[in-house]
Amino acid sequence: MKNRNIERKYYSVRYDILCKQEKFMDNFKRTKFVSGLLRFMNPGYGTCKKCGLPWNQCKEKTVHYDEYNGIFATCDYCWYHSTLDELKEYYTSIYIRQTFKNTTLKNLLECVEKEYNEKKMNSYE
Ligand SMILES: [Zn+2]
Repeated sequence: MKNRNIERKYYSVRYDILCKQEKFMDNFKRTKFVSGLLRFMNPGYGTCKKCGLPWNQCKEKTVHYDEYNGIFATCDYCWYHSTLDELKEYYTSIYIRQTFKNTTLKNLLECVEKEYNEKKMNSYE
């Protein structure tokens, strides 16, 4: 029993360390210098609207505006670290730059808001 508790404690400490390392790397990659360097090393990739990381260095967060189509303006990390106003701004700038036949800007921003509110509800769980 005692060994099992020690083992459990060990894995819990190990888990905390891994989480801290991951958090550190998430922040480190998104410093202006490092994200700029990664952009330079990965030309040809689109980038996150907030942190500027190229898409091969982070996971994108897709917002679906209909059953089959979706677009992304930020990475997963930045989605969860942005306000609704910031996100609407990023999606508006993407919408203006690209041509979307299947959606209006109004519909897209409503989908962003809906997804954002769902995220907020999930974070209370
Ligand atoms: Zn980002």
